Amino acid sequence: MKNEVKKDEVNIESRRAEELKGNENCEKIGKLPFEVDRRSVYKCVQCGTCRPVCPVFDVVGWESANTRGRMLIIKSLLEGRTPSADVLSSLASCTTCGICASRCPAGVNPPEVVEAARAQLVKCGVTTEAQEKLKTAIITSGNSFGETKSRLHWLSEKERSELPEKADYVYFAGCFDSYRYPEFAKKTFGILQRFGVTLLPDEQCCASPLLRTGFREDAAKIMEHNLEQIRKVGAHSIITGCAGCYTTLKNNYPEELKVISLPEFLAEHLEELDLKCLDLTVTYHDPCHLGRHNKVYEAPRKVIQAISTLKEMKNIKENSRCCGGGGGVRIGYPDISLELARNRLEDLPEGVDYIVTSCPLCVRNLRDAGGDVEVIDIVELVAMAME
Ligand code: SF4
Ligand code: SF4
Repeated sequence: MKNEVKKDEVNIESRRAEELKGNENCEKIGKLPFEVDRRSVYKCVQCGTCRPVCPVFDVVGWESANTRGRMLIIKSLLEGRTPSADVLSSLASCTTCGICASRCPAGVNPPEVVEAARAQLVKCGVTTEAQEKLKTAIITSGNSFGETKSRLHWLSEKERSELPEKADYVYFAGCFDSYRYPEFAKKTFGILQRFGVTLLPDEQCCASPLLRTGFREDAAKIMEHNLEQIRKVGAHSIITGCAGCYTTLKNNYPEELKVISLPEFLAEHLEELDLKCLDLTVTYHDPCHLGRHNKVYEAPRKVIQAISTLKEMKNIKENSRCCGGGGGVRIGYPDISLELARNRLEDLPEGVDYIVTSCPLCVRNLRDAGGDVEVIDIVELVAMAME
């Protein structure tokens, strides 16, 4: 029943022709040097082990919207075939959740290949309207929402003027916490300040949305800006509460930067935080980019279990299902994205007071999906235990 409704509502096909309009450069694609690593593409033996786990395929039901289909399409591009309308929607609708990579017996990393193929499409000017909008917002405003107010608007003038100019540790708030959940940023920084952590004077988007959607040149510029800011402060470590920022800072910025996720930092300093026990039973949603991509599974659980009772979801850690928010899918295909979040809510155990997660994008998507149980960020749970 669920899937009948979904396939009517989630209609990729109706958008395909429109998305490809104006992309007259499609025929160029096979003539450009292809940046996708050929070995990664040819490693795929089309076995289909990844097929049933792809959350987008589960919702859309099309071969071109599952991992194997995407790999086949990328192989055709690599061999010089001109992309059809299918190509763009197939590649743009991958959330980069990575569950396919964790199941692949041949060791293929499909989200990595998809991102490289998206970069190739960008080079040819083959992009969706949503991707272009996102890129423009980041380039013009330094954040993914196109907000024009200060990124530090959640601090008072006085608090801003008192920020240490030099520190070993910096809190990277990210676009989401800065502009959509400033209360998370405030609570996080309130904790981190006790440990001498400061903020960047002019933080900008970490570049994750640009990298995930293939705008690599634009991403490089904004990453350089953030690096300059980090050098200015003299920090050797950076702490973030956003899973997207975490994976980007850790895997796309230079290696000498030590990147710590908020749950890791909290887990390491539990004793110093003097937290009280809460009479709450909560569950935990592993964000794909914190969990599967970076194996941060235990730290958030350690924090939660120190202050409340943890009751696990049906699919956890390596098997956790995607919230649907990543890879540019929330912006490009909101209906698919929301359906993925609804599916994730089906994994909820009975009798929990909150769904806790450690990524603002997961919070937003799971909240938007409705459901009876409130979704909160791990910093909110910790803040309750500090009251
Ligand atoms: S990506 Fe891996 S699991 Fe999927 S079809 Fe290819 S070889 Fe099989
Ligand atoms: S990364 Fe996730 S959404 Fe993308 S192909 Fe793999 S399973 Fe599907």
